[in-house]
Parts: sequence; C-alpha cells; structure tokens
Amino acid sequence: MKKDLYDIAVIGGGPAGLMSAGSAAETGVSVILLEKMNTCGRKLLISGSGRCNITNTIKTVKDFINRLNVNNKFMYQALNGFKPSDTVAFFNNMGLKTTVERGFKVFPAGEAGSDDVLRVLMRYAVTNGTEIVCGAEVTEISHDGVFHLKTPKGQIKAKCVIISCGGMSYPKTGSAGGGYALAEALGHHVVKPAPALVPVYTPDEWVKQAQGVSLRDIGLTLYSGGKKIAVSSGDLVFTDRGISGPAVYDLSRKTSGTDLSIDIDLMPDMEFAGLDAELEQKLKENNKKLIRNIIDGYAVSALIPAVFSLSGVDPETRASNLSGKDRKKLVSVIKGMRVNNVEFAGFERAVVTAGGVDTKEIDGRTMQSSIVSGLFFAGEIIDTDGPTGGFNLQICWSTGRLAGRNAAEKSKNI
Ligand SMILES: Cc1cc2nc3c(=O)[nH]c(=O)nc-3n(C[C@H](O)[C@H](O)[C@H](O)COP(=O)(O)OP(=O)(O)OC[C@H]3O[C@@H](n4cnc5c(N)ncnc54)[C@H](O)[C@@H]3O)c2cc1C
Repeated sequence: MKKDLYDIAVIGGGPAGLMSAGSAAETGVSVILLEKMNTCGRKLLISGSGRCNITNTIKTVKDFINRLNVNNKFMYQALNGFKPSDTVAFFNNMGLKTTVERGFKVFPAGEAGSDDVLRVLMRYAVTNGTEIVCGAEVTEISHDGVFHLKTPKGQIKAKCVIISCGGMSYPKTGSAGGGYALAEALGHHVVKPAPALVPVYTPDEWVKQAQGVSLRDIGLTLYSGGKKIAVSSGDLVFTDRGISGPAVYDLSRKTSGTDLSIDIDLMPDMEFAGLDAELEQKLKENNKKLIRNIIDGYAVSALIPAVFSLSGVDPETRASNLSGKDRKKLVSVIKGMRVNNVEFAGFERAVVTAGGVDTKEIDGRTMQSSIVSGLFFAGEIIDTDGPTGGFNLQICWSTGRLAGRNAAEKSKNI
C-alpha cells in the first residue's frame, strides 16, 4: 500500500467499484480499490454472454425507475445524475463506440465486447490515480472516525469507504455475499438476498434435444398447478438443462407457487383463431403435401420433431387427410410448447441478486449510509434490481458515479 491514510477505499472491483473509484479519483482525492479476486470485473466479462449490454435507450428517468423491481424512488437521484445517455457518452468519450440493438439495448459496437468495457473502466480508474490491489479480500471493517480494513495484503486506513461487493449471483466471479457481512458489521440491515433473473431446468427430453437452438421474440406463460401466474416475451435459448435467455429471466422474477410449467408461444403475434385459419388455408392449397413440409414455416427446423411429438400428430399425414381436430392440436402446440416440471435455478446461475443492503439506511441523494458517516454503497449490493436490458449495469454506473463523487467531497472534510 502506498499511503498510510487514503481519502477513499473502494471495496470490490466490479463495474460499480471501478466507476466509483474513477469518479472519486478524477476529483483529485487519493483512492485505493481492493479486489478479492486476482483480476477485476470477472462478472462484467461474462455479462451479456461476453457482449455486455451496458445500458439502454430509455429516455426519461421516470420510465427507467418504473421498470425496476423494488425501491424505484430511491434510485431517482442516482439515475437523474447519470442517465443512460450519460453512460453512452462516457464510453464513447473513452473511445468505445456503441450500438443500439433491438431498438433499445446498448452494446459495444462491432467486435468489441465486455473485455473492452472492462479495459475502459480500468483505464478510467487508473489514469485518474486509483491504486488497484487485487487478491485483497476485505475480511474485517471498523470505524472510529476513519475506517480500518483488514485484507491478506495488509491493513488499510481510509477516511471514506465505498462498499461495492456485488450480490451473491455467480459466486465464482467473486461476489459471494461477503459485502453484506461488512455492511452488517457497521450496523446495516440486509434485505434477504434471493436469486433473480435465472434460467429454468426441466427433465423434459424434447427440451434437451433442442440444446443450442435460439428463438427470437417468443412469448412465455408461466403456470402454477395449471393456473397462469406470469407472462414474458423476448428471446430464448435451449440449454443442456432447460431454457434460458432474456424471456426466461424476466419470467423468473415472478416465480412463486409449486407444480410449475411454462408454455412457449412460437407465434405470439398471432391469435389462435387467426393462426388456425391460416393453417387451414395452407393445407387446402397444398393438399397433396405431407404436413411436416407445411408446418416448417411455423417453427425452426430443430423444433419440428417436438411440435409433432407434443401434439401427437403424425408428421407423415397428407394435408388432405389432416382432421380439423389434429390441425387445432398442432396450432395449440405452436402457441404453447409445454415445458413441464420447471425448476428455477439458484444463485449459481442468477444474473442478478434481489435483496441487499436496505435502502432505508442509505441516502439516495448521495449513496451515503445514514448510520455511519463516510460510508457509501454502490451497485448490486444495494437492494434494488431491474429486468434484463442493461438496467442492472446502469444501476452500477449511476450509483457508482454518485457514491464516488460524494465520497470524494466528504473526504475533503474529514
Ligand atoms: C451471466 C450474466 C450476464 C449478465 N449480463 C448483463 C448485461 O448484459 N447487462 C446488465 O445490465 N447486467 C448484466 N448482468 C448483471 C451485471 O453483471 C451485474 O449487475 C453487475 O456486474 C454488478 O456489478 P457490481 O460491481 O455491483 O458487482 P460485481 O460485478 O459482482 O463486482 C463485485 C466485486 O467485488 C468483489 N468482492 C466481493 N467481496 C469482496 C470483499 N470482501 N473484498 C474485496 N472484494 C470483494 C468481487 O470479487 C467482485 O469483483 C449479468 C450478470 C450475469 C451473471
């Protein structure tokens, strides 16, 4: 460690910690960032499957916070101070071009991905003077006017501390819940963490056989005991154990109940009756064809065998011989491929953690603790989370910027 007393110590080198450190150091104060793992930003590197959906194009702060799952109002000031458009400007000014996909999600442009996002953040922190120490898990923290931090690399003293240790999802990336213990040691309460935005497991054989198949813009309906409890839409991918992707993640936020099943609607833009009428017409026009050759316009080829097995209709049936009942069975499956005995994954595969440090004990105008003066929070450790689509990283940028700037200001008066 280069100094006996730092103005600011940031605990955790994820996106929130790096943004906090850079934002504070940019104002001229001394900053040390302590990261438990051997490198920073492990979770950032796997974000967006390595492509990193850094933010989105939502225009107003109100619209953004309305999409968050909890503590929407708490996030207002942070978002107002550093909006999605500020995120885009920040990365562009640092030389990373961005692109908008699906009319809404912002990604690094071209071949660039998460590693480029991490490089920008590291450069932002380091060129402004942050001392980054990896392999430095903070195991103890106390405060007697200044903060005392214990790490395997030695003791650190700092006037202000920003805790940005993330949540508990994908614990192998380093965020395994250790930050909550540090917050609690200083008197904070933690709203029980829970895995959020998780993939789905199922024993269904047809799902496993579709491994690797991706679907765009499908609709999902979640049932508990046959009763509809939630819907979502978006993209989906079949995995070795079930289904994953944004549409599944958004559904997983609403998991409750038992005896869960999910219907995948391959053609959500068409009503059952319209699709049935269209198929009936196609069958008439192609009455000599086998129906497997007619159905292929309604599902990707890898799913066609499953469409027939789930409907119980023989794919070798000639169109002219297909009964109205069997046609409706096929339409039912296209509008709802049933995934049975659904189980939502736990923390090990969660994109984000719900719960965290109670926002009632954090001042949303500064990210400072209302319990310990000079203590700040940033990122996923705070009890707020959003859906897929760049919301969760935007929370990191906004809270990181606010915590960094205010911790810097605070440290000047200690
Ligand atoms: C597979 C996956 C894909 C995702 N894709 C996206 C996406 O495309 N867009 C999006 O917006 N969000 C995405 N997310 C969510 C996003 O990555 C997280 O919300 C974000 O990384 C949280 O940042 P953070 O800095 O708060 O915490 P983290 O990234 O978890 O960083 C916390 C850091 O603190 C360190 N640490 C923990 N305890 C200590 C300690 N005691 N001492 C020192 N260091 C400590 C950890 O090692 C870690 O490096 C994705 C998440 C996953 C898992």
